Amino acid sequence: MIVLGIETSCDDTSVAVVRNGREVLSSIVSSQIKVHAPYGGVVPELASREHIKNLPIVFQTALREAKVSVNDIDLIGVTVGPGLLGALLVGVSFAKGLSFASNIPFVALNHIECHIQSAFIEYGEKIELPAMAFVVSGGHTHLFYLNEKKEIKLLAKTRDDAVGEAFDKFAKMLNLGYPGGPIIDKLAQRGEPTYKLPIPKMSDGSDDMSFSGIKTFLLRTIEKEKEDLNIENLAASFQKTVADILIKKIKRFEREFPAKSILLTGGVSANSYLRKRFKDEFGEKFFVPSPKFSTDNAAMVASLAFERKGQKAELHQECFPTLFF
Ligand code: ATP
Ligand code: FE
Repeated sequence: MIVLGIETSCDDTSVAVVRNGREVLSSIVSSQIKVHAPYGGVVPELASREHIKNLPIVFQTALREAKVSVNDIDLIGVTVGPGLLGALLVGVSFAKGLSFASNIPFVALNHIECHIQSAFIEYGEKIELPAMAFVVSGGHTHLFYLNEKKEIKLLAKTRDDAVGEAFDKFAKMLNLGYPGGPIIDKLAQRGEPTYKLPIPKMSDGSDDMSFSGIKTFLLRTIEKEKEDLNIENLAASFQKTVADILIKKIKRFEREFPAKSILLTGGVSANSYLRKRFKDEFGEKFFVPSPKFSTDNAAMVASLAFERKGQKAELHQECFPTLFF
């Protein structure tokens, strides 16, 4: 079965063609980084306009690279949320138009479930269930449990900033550019974790995580140390603290929710240090997608659509800006 995936939830316009959920025939991602970089973050209205402009081109490129035509597509998968409403509407309207005009059914998918699915593209059944899956991205830091049937349960989440957001804001404080993740990742490779960052504790005993205190600490340290600041060491310390918090959170649930596999997904899972720390900690149980499937892409959408092929959507399908299950 040939599935076309469409992803426009944030600032990447992506279309992919995937056979039987795992064989990626093409995965095209058109990044809007240059458009948003001057603002240090994504400007929603600009994102929608860029999607409108780029999606038809990305679609044609994906078909060409996969060497298929519209007639070969058996199913369409499209992200319907969470994300920027205007951006989502562009992808969903395109999917509906294509579905109606070419008589191809479509499936509506949750972006966060697609991030979890990204690990299954390359590893498939090697990932034994039940599993724990961390989605660590620009808007989410959510730990999930996948039972034997791959049904999802939320275990813990951030109460304020997402880790990706903290990476982006950290780089913005230092005027290093956008997105911050890859920049901080590189800097940290030349540093040592010499700074002691605060580890947030929830006074109400909840399992929520928090990263806003860490962000404030980074800002204060930058302001206080000025020329004495060792940026590389601060970046390395920040990454170490993030890894410590995420790994500790998984361990907190290990007894109650025994898992045969541990997945790290979402844009931040492209981080070289986090990948290494998780591998050291969880060994053979640990699965992380290739960096190209960590950040937003439509291959993960097409892959999940294949699994959900029975759940066909209707033409009045809505978009959902906030997380839903
Ligand atoms: P969400 O998935 O929550 O809706 P999003 O789709 O915008 O948000 P993703 O594309 O999954 O987020 O991830 C983008 C985030 O990943 C950005 O915050 C970016 O800085 C971060 N990121 C990308 N590469 C790296 C890296 N090497 N190290 C750390 N963070 C990274
Ligand atoms: Fe994402």
